[in-house]
Amino acid sequence: MSFVFTPQPVVSVPVVGRAERFPVHRIYCVGRNYEEHAKEMGFTGREPPFFFLKPADAIVVADPGKTAVIPYPSLTSNLHHEIELVVAIGKGGRGIKAEDAASHIFGYAVGLDMTRRDLQTEMKKQGRPWCIGKGYDQSAPIGPITPAAEAGDIGNAAIWVQVNGSDRQRSNIAKLIWNIAETIEHLSNAWELQPGDLIYTGTPEGVAAVVKGDTMTGGVDGLSGITVKVA
Ligand code: MN
Repeated sequence: MSFVFTPQPVVSVPVVGRAERFPVHRIYCVGRNYEEHAKEMGFTGREPPFFFLKPADAIVVADPGKTAVIPYPSLTSNLHHEIELVVAIGKGGRGIKAEDAASHIFGYAVGLDMTRRDLQTEMKKQGRPWCIGKGYDQSAPIGPITPAAEAGDIGNAAIWVQVNGSDRQRSNIAKLIWNIAETIEHLSNAWELQPGDLIYTGTPEGVAAVVKGDTMTGGVDGLSGITVKVA
């Protein structure tokens, strides 16, 4: 097959303990999936899960032991970190039941849903899409994917991010409003999941701004952590 110009390369994420990489299809994100974060954003109560997407090429791989660098993005003066557990889908499907969800999971990673909060807030006010606040270039740093069997008890794992060595967000995956299996059920009723899909499962409370020169260090127990600097 020939193309009118060279296609973009396949976006991929390294896998812990393997030479083969995980090719990324889509990036789904869950909104307001921890109660205390929903409250800090001005909402209360359990609402049905809702989703937004980032383009696959928003991925920035944060290799273990290295500092990934992201530029301070354009158009914003309020860039927020959102530390999140990322679920990597290995087997696709639609209408997946929560009790069958585990068999669709390849593994887990630590991710940052970086957010131009001022733009997102303005779009919310106007009832417009969040894309410009959420789906901008290099908005999805991620660490290597740990295969599910090696990830331990991910449903009860601590999740945290520090900025310049000080705690910003610290919670536990057990506090997800919609847990991993329920999220896969809801998501697969709306879209047919494909191998290579990533799901950013939502962020706990403590979202706040970073500025140029800040370094974010994030982790989830049992997974490879990430270090990301804003340049
Ligand atoms: Mn998020």
